[in-house]
Amino acid sequence: MEEWTVKVNHSAVKKEKPKTDQLEFGRVFTDHMFIMDYSVPLGWHDPRIVPYEPLTIDPSAMTFHYGQSVFEGLKAYYTPEGDIHLFRPEKNLQRLNRSNDRLCIPPIDEAFILQAIKQLVYLDKEWIPTAEGTSLYIRPFIISTEPFIGVAPSHQYKLIVILSPVGAYYKEGINPVKIAVENQYVRTVKGGTGEAKTGGNYAASLKAQELCAQKGFTQVLWLDGLEKKYIEEVGSMNVFFKINGKVYTPALNGSILEGVTRNSVIQMLQYWNIPVIEEKLAIDDLYQAYLDETLEEAFGTGTAAVISPIGQLSWENKDLYINEGKTGKISKALYDTLTGIQYGREKDPFDWIEKVTKKNTVKQ
Ligand SMILES: *Cc1c(COP(=O)(O)O)cnc(C)c1O
Repeated sequence: MEEWTVKVNHSAVKKEKPKTDQLEFGRVFTDHMFIMDYSVPLGWHDPRIVPYEPLTIDPSAMTFHYGQSVFEGLKAYYTPEGDIHLFRPEKNLQRLNRSNDRLCIPPIDEAFILQAIKQLVYLDKEWIPTAEGTSLYIRPFIISTEPFIGVAPSHQYKLIVILSPVGAYYKEGINPVKIAVENQYVRTVKGGTGEAKTGGNYAASLKAQELCAQKGFTQVLWLDGLEKKYIEEVGSMNVFFKINGKVYTPALNGSILEGVTRNSVIQMLQYWNIPVIEEKLAIDDLYQAYLDETLEEAFGTGTAAVISPIGQLSWENKDLYINEGKTGKISKALYDTLTGIQYGREKDPFDWIEKVTKKNTVKQ
Protein backbone atom coordinates (compact mmCIF):
# COMPACT_ATOMS: atom_id res chain seq x y z
CA MET A 1 0.00 0.00 0.00
CA GLU A 2 1.28 3.44 -0.87
CA GLU A 3 1.99 5.87 1.95
CA TRP A 4 -0.55 8.49 1.01
CA THR A 5 -2.31 10.60 3.59
CA VAL A 6 -5.87 11.66 2.99
CA LYS A 7 -6.28 15.40 3.46
CA VAL A 8 -9.56 16.21 5.16
CA ASN A 9 -11.51 19.39 4.53
CA HIS A 10 -14.40 19.27 6.97
CA SER A 11 -17.80 20.43 5.86
CA ALA A 12 -18.81 23.70 7.54
CA VAL A 13 -22.46 22.68 7.59
CA LYS A 14 -23.96 19.44 8.76
CA LYS A 15 -26.97 18.62 6.63
CA GLU A 16 -30.20 17.42 8.18
CA LYS A 17 -30.40 13.64 8.21
CA PRO A 18 -33.50 11.94 6.81
CA LYS A 19 -35.91 10.19 9.15
CA THR A 20 -35.33 6.46 9.27
CA ASP A 21 -38.83 5.57 8.06
CA GLN A 22 -38.51 7.92 5.09
CA LEU A 23 -35.25 6.55 3.71
CA GLU A 24 -35.31 5.76 0.03
CA PHE A 25 -32.56 4.20 -2.02
CA GLY A 26 -29.87 6.57 -3.23
CA ARG A 27 -31.45 10.02 -3.04
CA VAL A 28 -29.74 11.51 0.00
CA PHE A 29 -26.00 11.83 0.44
CA THR A 30 -23.82 12.46 3.48
CA ASP A 31 -21.71 15.51 4.38
CA HIS A 32 -18.45 14.36 2.80
CA MET A 33 -17.01 12.54 -0.20
CA PHE A 34 -13.62 11.11 -1.09
CA ILE A 35 -11.83 12.19 -4.28
CA MET A 36 -8.54 11.18 -5.86
CA ASP A 37 -7.20 12.29 -9.25
CA TYR A 38 -5.26 10.51 -11.95
CA SER A 39 -3.17 12.18 -14.58
CA VAL A 40 -0.15 11.41 -16.69
CA PRO A 41 2.62 11.34 -15.53
CA LEU A 42 1.55 11.75 -11.87
CA GLY A 43 -0.59 8.62 -11.69
CA TRP A 44 -3.17 8.51 -8.87
CA HIS A 45 -2.57 11.43 -6.53
CA ASP A 46 -4.06 13.98 -4.13
CA PRO A 47 -6.43 11.74 -2.11
CA ARG A 48 -8.78 13.96 -0.13
CA ILE A 49 -12.02 14.04 1.78
CA VAL A 50 -14.03 17.17 1.01
CA PRO A 51 -17.57 18.43 1.61
CA TYR A 52 -20.14 16.68 -0.63
CA GLU A 53 -20.83 19.12 -3.45
CA PRO A 54 -21.31 19.30 -7.23
CA LEU A 55 -18.21 18.84 -9.39
CA THR A 56 -16.92 21.19 -12.03
CA ILE A 57 -16.08 19.11 -15.08
CA ASP A 58 -15.32 20.18 -18.62
CA PRO A 59 -18.24 19.46 -21.00
CA SER A 60 -15.79 17.73 -23.30
CA ALA A 61 -14.71 15.33 -20.52
CA MET A 62 -14.56 11.90 -22.08
CA THR A 63 -16.87 10.24 -19.57
CA PHE A 64 -19.85 12.23 -20.93
CA HIS A 65 -19.33 11.02 -24.48
CA TYR A 66 -18.12 7.44 -24.62
CA GLY A 67 -18.96 6.09 -21.20
CA GLN A 68 -15.51 5.14 -19.95
CA SER A 69 -16.49 4.72 -16.31
CA VAL A 70 -16.82 2.03 -13.65
CA PHE A 71 -18.51 1.79 -10.26
CA GLU A 72 -18.97 -0.36 -7.18
CA GLY A 73 -21.63 -0.79 -4.51
CA LEU A 74 -21.25 -2.00 -0.94
CA LYS A 75 -22.70 -1.15 2.46
CA ALA A 76 -21.73 -0.21 6.02
CA TYR A 77 -23.93 -1.61 8.80
CA TYR A 78 -24.33 -0.67 12.46
CA THR A 79 -24.45 -3.67 14.79
CA PRO A 80 -26.64 -3.65 17.91
CA GLU A 81 -23.41 -3.10 19.91
CA GLY A 82 -22.57 0.04 17.90
CA ASP A 83 -19.79 -1.52 15.81
CA ILE A 84 -19.54 -0.54 12.15
CA HIS A 85 -19.29 -3.46 9.72
CA LEU A 86 -18.25 -3.71 6.09
CA PHE A 87 -19.00 -6.99 4.27
CA ARG A 88 -16.08 -8.38 2.22
CA PRO A 89 -15.07 -4.91 0.97
CA GLU A 90 -11.82 -6.22 -0.52
CA LYS A 91 -13.91 -8.19 -3.04
CA ASN A 92 -15.46 -4.95 -4.30
CA LEU A 93 -12.06 -3.31 -4.72
CA GLN A 94 -10.67 -6.35 -6.53
CA ARG A 95 -13.68 -6.22 -8.84
CA LEU A 96 -13.22 -2.47 -9.35
CA ASN A 97 -9.74 -3.23 -10.66
CA ARG A 98 -11.08 -5.98 -12.95
CA SER A 99 -13.63 -3.49 -14.28
CA ASN A 100 -10.84 -0.91 -14.65
CA ASP A 101 -8.82 -3.34 -16.69
CA ARG A 102 -11.73 -4.00 -19.06
CA LEU A 103 -12.41 -0.28 -19.52
CA CYS A 104 -8.70 0.70 -19.94
CA ILE A 105 -8.76 2.66 -16.68
CA PRO A 106 -5.49 2.59 -14.67
CA PRO A 107 -5.58 0.30 -11.63
CA ILE A 108 -6.12 1.65 -8.12
CA ASP A 109 -4.27 0.68 -4.94
CA GLU A 110 -6.96 -1.57 -3.42
CA ALA A 111 -5.60 -1.51 0.14
CA PHE A 112 -5.29 2.28 0.14
CA ILE A 113 -8.76 2.88 -1.28
CA LEU A 114 -10.26 0.50 1.29
CA GLN A 115 -8.51 2.49 4.01
CA ALA A 116 -9.85 5.72 2.51
CA ILE A 117 -13.38 4.31 2.36
CA LYS A 118 -13.13 3.36 6.03
CA GLN A 119 -11.90 6.84 6.89
CA LEU A 120 -14.83 8.42 5.00
CA VAL A 121 -17.38 6.08 6.59
CA TYR A 122 -15.94 6.76 10.03
CA LEU A 123 -16.06 10.52 9.48
CA ASP A 124 -19.72 10.36 8.39
CA LYS A 125 -20.70 7.55 10.78
CA GLU A 126 -23.59 9.58 12.23
CA TRP A 127 -25.23 9.03 8.83
CA ILE A 128 -25.32 5.25 9.21
CA PRO A 129 -28.93 4.59 10.13
CA THR A 130 -29.48 2.25 13.06
CA ALA A 131 -33.02 0.93 12.50
CA GLU A 132 -33.46 -2.74 11.59
CA GLY A 133 -32.43 -3.44 8.00
CA THR A 134 -31.10 0.04 7.24
CA SER A 135 -27.52 0.73 6.18
CA LEU A 136 -25.14 3.21 4.56
CA TYR A 137 -24.67 2.48 0.86
CA ILE A 138 -21.12 3.15 -0.36
CA ARG A 139 -20.70 4.07 -4.03
CA PRO A 140 -17.11 4.26 -5.32
CA PHE A 141 -16.84 5.20 -9.01
CA ILE A 142 -14.30 6.35 -11.55
CA ILE A 143 -14.94 8.73 -14.44
CA SER A 144 -12.69 9.75 -17.32
CA THR A 145 -12.17 13.51 -17.17
CA GLU A 146 -9.75 14.39 -19.96
CA PRO A 147 -11.27 17.21 -22.05
CA PHE A 148 -11.08 15.48 -25.42
CA ILE A 149 -13.81 14.08 -27.65
CA GLY A 150 -11.57 11.70 -29.56
CA VAL A 151 -12.16 8.00 -28.98
CA ALA A 152 -9.27 6.68 -26.88
CA PRO A 153 -8.59 5.82 -23.26
CA SER A 154 -8.52 9.02 -21.19
CA HIS A 155 -5.30 10.29 -19.62
CA GLN A 156 -7.18 11.82 -16.68
CA TYR A 157 -9.63 10.32 -14.17
CA LYS A 158 -11.36 11.00 -10.91
CA LEU A 159 -12.09 8.30 -8.36
CA ILE A 160 -14.91 9.43 -6.11
CA VAL A 161 -16.65 7.75 -3.18
CA ILE A 162 -20.06 8.97 -2.06
CA LEU A 163 -22.26 7.63 0.76
CA SER A 164 -26.04 7.35 0.97
CA PRO A 165 -28.14 6.21 3.94
CA VAL A 166 -30.64 3.61 2.70
CA GLY A 167 -33.78 2.11 4.15
CA ALA A 168 -34.62 -1.52 4.78
CA TYR A 169 -35.03 -3.26 1.42
CA TYR A 170 -37.92 -5.35 2.70
CA LYS A 171 -40.14 -3.26 4.90
CA GLU A 172 -42.90 -5.88 5.16
CA GLY A 173 -40.74 -8.98 4.99
CA ILE A 174 -39.35 -10.66 1.88
CA ASN A 175 -41.82 -10.68 -0.99
CA PRO A 176 -41.24 -12.85 -4.04
CA VAL A 177 -41.25 -10.93 -7.32
CA LYS A 178 -42.67 -11.51 -10.82
CA ILE A 179 -40.03 -11.88 -13.51
CA ALA A 180 -40.37 -11.95 -17.30
CA VAL A 181 -37.87 -13.87 -19.43
CA GLU A 182 -36.45 -11.33 -21.93
CA ASN A 183 -36.53 -12.68 -25.47
CA GLN A 184 -35.80 -9.57 -27.51
CA TYR A 185 -33.12 -7.47 -25.81
CA VAL A 186 -29.84 -8.67 -24.34
CA ARG A 187 -27.79 -7.10 -21.55
CA THR A 188 -24.40 -7.97 -22.97
CA VAL A 189 -22.53 -10.70 -24.82
CA LYS A 190 -19.44 -12.75 -24.17
CA GLY A 191 -16.50 -10.55 -25.14
CA GLY A 192 -18.51 -7.45 -24.25
CA THR A 193 -18.46 -5.63 -20.92
CA GLY A 194 -20.89 -7.81 -18.96
CA GLU A 195 -18.23 -8.90 -16.47
CA ALA A 196 -17.40 -5.28 -15.66
CA LYS A 197 -19.46 -3.01 -13.45
CA THR A 198 -19.81 -0.18 -15.91
CA GLY A 199 -22.65 2.24 -16.55
CA GLY A 200 -23.07 1.19 -20.19
CA ASN A 201 -24.44 -2.20 -19.16
CA TYR A 202 -27.14 -0.45 -17.16
CA ALA A 203 -27.95 1.95 -20.00
CA ALA A 204 -28.36 -1.07 -22.27
CA SER A 205 -30.76 -2.73 -19.82
CA LEU A 206 -33.22 0.14 -19.35
CA LYS A 207 -35.41 -0.51 -22.40
CA ALA A 208 -36.19 -4.11 -21.48
CA GLN A 209 -36.75 -3.08 -17.87
CA GLU A 210 -39.17 -0.32 -18.89
CA LEU A 211 -41.20 -2.62 -21.15
CA CYS A 212 -41.42 -5.41 -18.58
CA ALA A 213 -42.51 -2.93 -15.88
CA GLN A 214 -45.34 -1.77 -18.18
CA LYS A 215 -46.54 -5.38 -18.27
CA GLY A 216 -46.51 -5.63 -14.48
CA PHE A 217 -43.21 -7.45 -13.95
CA THR A 218 -40.53 -6.37 -11.51
CA GLN A 219 -37.52 -7.36 -13.57
CA VAL A 220 -36.37 -9.37 -16.56
CA LEU A 221 -34.48 -12.63 -16.67
CA TRP A 222 -31.60 -12.11 -19.09
CA LEU A 223 -30.62 -14.85 -21.50
CA ASP A 224 -27.23 -15.13 -23.20
CA GLY A 225 -26.67 -12.69 -26.07
CA LEU A 226 -25.67 -15.25 -28.69
CA GLU A 227 -28.27 -18.02 -28.65
CA LYS A 228 -30.82 -16.52 -26.23
CA LYS A 229 -31.01 -19.95 -24.71
CA TYR A 230 -28.98 -19.88 -21.50
CA ILE A 231 -29.90 -18.06 -18.31
CA GLU A 232 -27.49 -15.30 -17.23
CA GLU A 233 -28.83 -12.88 -14.62
CA VAL A 234 -32.05 -11.45 -13.23
CA GLY A 235 -32.25 -7.64 -13.51
CA SER A 236 -28.96 -6.51 -12.01
CA MET A 237 -28.65 -9.55 -9.78
CA ASN A 238 -27.14 -12.99 -10.12
CA VAL A 239 -29.64 -15.83 -10.18
CA PHE A 240 -30.00 -19.21 -8.45
CA PHE A 241 -32.46 -22.12 -8.82
CA LYS A 242 -33.07 -25.00 -6.44
CA ILE A 243 -33.91 -28.07 -8.46
CA ASN A 244 -34.42 -31.47 -6.85
CA GLY A 245 -32.43 -30.63 -3.73
CA LYS A 246 -29.48 -29.08 -5.57
CA VAL A 247 -28.81 -25.40 -6.14
CA TYR A 248 -27.83 -24.26 -9.65
CA THR A 249 -26.41 -20.95 -10.79
CA PRO A 250 -25.11 -20.02 -14.25
CA ALA A 251 -21.35 -20.55 -14.50
CA LEU A 252 -19.31 -17.36 -14.98
CA ASN A 253 -18.91 -17.16 -18.73
CA GLY A 254 -17.45 -13.80 -19.57
CA SER A 255 -20.74 -11.94 -19.72
CA ILE A 256 -22.10 -12.52 -16.21
CA LEU A 257 -21.13 -10.05 -13.48
CA GLU A 258 -19.49 -11.90 -10.60
CA GLY A 259 -21.42 -10.79 -7.52
CA VAL A 260 -19.95 -10.71 -4.04
CA THR A 261 -23.33 -11.96 -2.82
CA ARG A 262 -23.26 -14.76 -5.41
CA ASN A 263 -19.87 -15.91 -4.14
CA SER A 264 -21.05 -15.67 -0.50
CA VAL A 265 -24.21 -17.67 -1.25
CA ILE A 266 -22.17 -20.42 -2.92
CA GLN A 267 -19.80 -20.63 0.05
CA MET A 268 -22.66 -20.64 2.55
CA LEU A 269 -24.54 -23.41 0.74
CA GLN A 270 -21.37 -25.52 0.61
CA TYR A 271 -20.86 -24.88 4.33
CA TRP A 272 -24.38 -26.26 4.87
CA ASN A 273 -23.55 -29.29 2.71
CA ILE A 274 -26.11 -28.32 0.09
CA PRO A 275 -24.78 -29.21 -3.37
CA VAL A 276 -24.14 -26.13 -5.56
CA ILE A 277 -23.65 -26.55 -9.27
CA GLU A 278 -22.24 -23.79 -11.48
CA GLU A 279 -22.98 -24.64 -15.08
CA LYS A 280 -24.67 -23.49 -18.26
CA LEU A 281 -28.38 -23.43 -17.52
CA ALA A 282 -30.78 -23.58 -20.48
CA ILE A 283 -34.19 -21.96 -20.07
CA ASP A 284 -35.73 -25.09 -21.71
CA ASP A 285 -34.22 -27.27 -18.98
CA LEU A 286 -35.55 -24.96 -16.31
CA TYR A 287 -39.02 -25.24 -17.84
CA GLN A 288 -38.69 -29.02 -17.95
CA ALA A 289 -37.77 -29.02 -14.24
CA TYR A 290 -40.89 -26.95 -13.62
CA LEU A 291 -43.06 -29.49 -15.53
CA ASP A 292 -41.38 -32.32 -13.60
CA GLU A 293 -42.19 -30.46 -10.38
CA THR A 294 -38.55 -30.44 -9.33
CA LEU A 295 -38.09 -26.64 -9.55
CA GLU A 296 -38.28 -25.83 -5.86
CA GLU A 297 -36.97 -22.29 -5.46
CA ALA A 298 -35.58 -19.40 -7.49
CA PHE A 299 -33.91 -16.23 -6.24
CA GLY A 300 -31.70 -13.33 -7.25
CA THR A 301 -28.66 -12.20 -5.23
CA GLY A 302 -27.05 -8.76 -4.87
CA THR A 303 -25.87 -6.23 -2.31
CA ALA A 304 -29.08 -4.18 -2.30
CA ALA A 305 -31.67 -6.88 -1.48
CA VAL A 306 -29.22 -9.70 -0.55
CA ILE A 307 -31.76 -12.37 -1.57
CA SER A 308 -34.75 -11.64 -3.80
CA PRO A 309 -37.04 -14.66 -4.20
CA ILE A 310 -38.73 -15.19 -7.56
CA GLY A 311 -42.35 -16.23 -7.18
CA GLN A 312 -43.37 -16.18 -10.82
CA LEU A 313 -41.48 -16.50 -14.08
CA SER A 314 -43.14 -15.77 -17.42
CA TRP A 315 -41.63 -17.25 -20.54
CA GLU A 316 -43.22 -17.32 -24.01
CA ASN A 317 -46.79 -17.10 -22.67
CA LYS A 318 -46.11 -19.74 -20.03
CA ASP A 319 -46.32 -18.80 -16.37
CA LEU A 320 -44.18 -20.73 -13.93
CA TYR A 321 -45.32 -20.40 -10.33
CA ILE A 322 -42.39 -21.25 -8.10
CA ASN A 323 -42.93 -22.56 -4.56
CA GLU A 324 -46.55 -21.34 -4.79
CA GLY A 325 -45.25 -17.77 -5.06
CA LYS A 326 -43.85 -17.94 -1.55
CA THR A 327 -40.34 -17.44 -0.20
CA GLY A 328 -38.53 -20.77 -0.12
CA LYS A 329 -36.73 -22.29 2.85
CA ILE A 330 -33.23 -21.94 1.41
CA SER A 331 -33.91 -18.38 0.24
CA LYS A 332 -35.07 -17.45 3.74
CA ALA A 333 -32.18 -19.21 5.47
CA LEU A 334 -29.64 -17.51 3.19
CA TYR A 335 -31.26 -14.12 3.75
CA ASP A 336 -31.35 -14.53 7.53
CA THR A 337 -27.80 -15.84 7.75
CA LEU A 338 -26.14 -13.34 5.41
CA THR A 339 -27.93 -10.32 6.92
CA GLY A 340 -27.26 -11.82 10.38
CA ILE A 341 -23.53 -11.80 9.64
CA GLN A 342 -23.66 -8.30 8.13
CA TYR A 343 -25.44 -6.85 11.17
CA GLY A 344 -23.32 -8.80 13.65
CA ARG A 345 -26.19 -10.94 14.94
CA GLU A 346 -24.69 -14.22 13.71
CA LYS A 347 -21.21 -15.63 13.94
CA ASP A 348 -19.02 -15.05 10.91
CA PRO A 349 -17.39 -18.40 10.08
CA PHE A 350 -15.67 -17.04 6.97
CA ASP A 351 -14.19 -13.85 8.44
CA TRP A 352 -16.21 -11.79 6.00
CA ILE A 353 -16.69 -8.79 8.27
CA GLU A 354 -14.25 -5.93 8.41
CA LYS A 355 -14.83 -3.45 11.21
CA VAL A 356 -14.46 0.28 10.81
CA THR A 357 -12.88 1.75 13.92
CA LYS A 358 -11.14 4.99 14.74
CA LYS A 359 -7.85 3.10 14.93
CA ASN A 360 -8.01 1.48 11.51
CA THR A 361 -9.17 4.59 9.69
CA VAL A 362 -7.28 7.62 10.89
CA LYS A 363 -3.55 7.81 10.41
CA GLN A 364 -2.16 9.85 13.29
C1 LIG B 1 -23.55 -5.43 -8.99
C2 LIG B 1 -24.19 -6.46 -9.83
C3 LIG B 1 -24.56 -7.73 -9.32
C4 LIG B 1 -24.48 -8.10 -7.88
O1 LIG B 1 -23.23 -7.99 -7.32
P1 LIG B 1 -23.05 -7.93 -5.74
O2 LIG B 1 -21.58 -7.81 -5.58
O3 LIG B 1 -23.57 -9.20 -5.19
O4 LIG B 1 -23.80 -6.74 -5.25
C5 LIG B 1 -25.08 -8.65 -10.21
N1 LIG B 1 -25.26 -8.36 -11.52
C6 LIG B 1 -24.94 -7.15 -12.02
C7 LIG B 1 -25.17 -6.89 -13.47
C8 LIG B 1 -24.40 -6.16 -11.20
O5 LIG B 1 -24.11 -4.97 -11.71
